[in-house]
Amino acid sequence: VIEIRNLHKAYGALEVIKGVDLVARKGEVISLIGSSGSGKSTILRCANLLEDSQQGDILFKGEPVRWKGEGLHRHPADPAQVLRIRTNLSMVFQQFNLWSHMTILENVMEAPVTVLGRDKAEAEKAARGYLDKVGIGDKCDVYPAQLSGGQQQRAAIARGLCMEPEALLFDEPTSALDPELEQEVVRVIKDLAAEGRTMMIVTHDMKMAHDVSDHVVFLHQGLIEEEGAPETLFGAPKSERLKQFLSSTM
Ligand code: ATP
Ligand code: MG
Repeated sequence: VIEIRNLHKAYGALEVIKGVDLVARKGEVISLIGSSGSGKSTILRCANLLEDSQQGDILFKGEPVRWKGEGLHRHPADPAQVLRIRTNLSMVFQQFNLWSHMTILENVMEAPVTVLGRDKAEAEKAARGYLDKVGIGDKCDVYPAQLSGGQQQRAAIARGLCMEPEALLFDEPTSALDPELEQEVVRVIKDLAAEGRTMMIVTHDMKMAHDVSDHVVFLHQGLIEEEGAPETLFGAPKSERLKQFLSSTM
């Protein structure tokens, strides 16, 4: 579904992604781990074209992003393609980014109606279904401030699902939560993985990465230092940096 080839990304003179290859096939869960500043969020943001990149290819369902310009002047050439890709890759952030003046139901229905042009009644039915699925079907009519952090994050996931995306991208979905609330969100992500959803997950939660991933990628300073199946990566890490990283986080 998502294919990244030899991606390079710089902020001005600072090169933060230095040639990364990453593939998430249909139904696969890929986790990105690595220390702060290693480039995890940047890769997700480049993947759904929230950020430009200077070199390399990004393909969505085999369709390469078309660019114009080069290097620091490279941008996607086709706004319609950007919109198509972005609406098919729902992003869930660390901070849930719900609209505070809208009820939970309105938050979840918003994009399907305004971006996809869905019929309101249909979007509402779907939104209620997804809110049920993440376990907060009884919270449709309250405002985000009336929910716990874990409930807000589950609402944000329902909002992502409501777009019926090809893949979900998570950027540290549990790191703003207290440990007991974190588990509610991990449970939802595990259910989505079991359903065969395609996902790319940036996380500091090594247990979740171990339990839900098909493939884990360890980044160091903008490059993939080591990658593999979770059992191998966590059970028998080869690189010294990964060993150190794991002993500092577990
Ligand atoms: P964390 O675990 O702290 O979220 P990360 O692995 O997600 O870290 P990124 O946010 O991808 O790291 O950042 C990678 C590098 O890019 C860092 O060195 C960061 O300082 C730099 N960076 C990120 N965003 C910007 C920006 N808008 N302008 C300049 N530099 C940036
Ligand atoms: Mg980050």
